[in-house]
Amino acid sequence: MRLFFALPCPPAVAARVIAWRKEQGVDGRLIPAANLHMTLAFLGEVPVERLETLTALGDELQLEPCTVVLDRVERWHQGLISVIASETPVPLASFIKELNQGLMGLGFSIDRRPFVPHMTAARKSRQRPLDFPSLEWPVERFALFVSENIEGGVQYRALKEWLAR
Ligand code: ATP
Ligand code: MG
Repeated sequence: MRLFFALPCPPAVAARVIAWRKEQGVDGRLIPAANLHMTLAFLGEVPVERLETLTALGDELQLEPCTVVLDRVERWHQGLISVIASETPVPLASFIKELNQGLMGLGFSIDRRPFVPHMTAARKSRQRPLDFPSLEWPVERFALFVSENIEGGVQYRALKEWLAR
């Protein structure tokens, strides 16, 4: 299973991002509303037997409710349009640290690059949108997602969700 931990995008945030995308005429492969998320840790292919240890890790971790402010847009490799938070809220930073430590303890390799809170809005876009209005993302939950290939694309499904507390 192709797994990752992420923040599911709150519906109100998804609606704003989709409206913004339309206004700006963002082209390319637009990420469907249901797939919008912020990746916290990407695990890649994981044998199904390891699922239980991962959900146990999620049970142990504590994410304090906080607010991520998405405040700019960039165009990355292969026309990937990313909406980005210039600052990582302290509770989210400490959560990422604990998550990575937990994952390393379980033998998973983790991303060495510093965490930049971002959400992919589109891929293969030809232009960078001009601007992004600052947008608040109330962080109320995190989840372990499985990335599944479906007809015509990919689908992310939450296997387990935890409330911030
Ligand atoms: P596809 O690879 O089929 O184009 P995708 O990239 O959206 O689709 P996945 O590759 O399953 O789907 O990735 C799931 C999530 O994890 C996405 O948010 C993706 O950006 C992120 N991700 C994928 N690979 C990595 C990686 N090596 N490091 C960090 N994040 C990653
Ligand atoms: Mg990918």
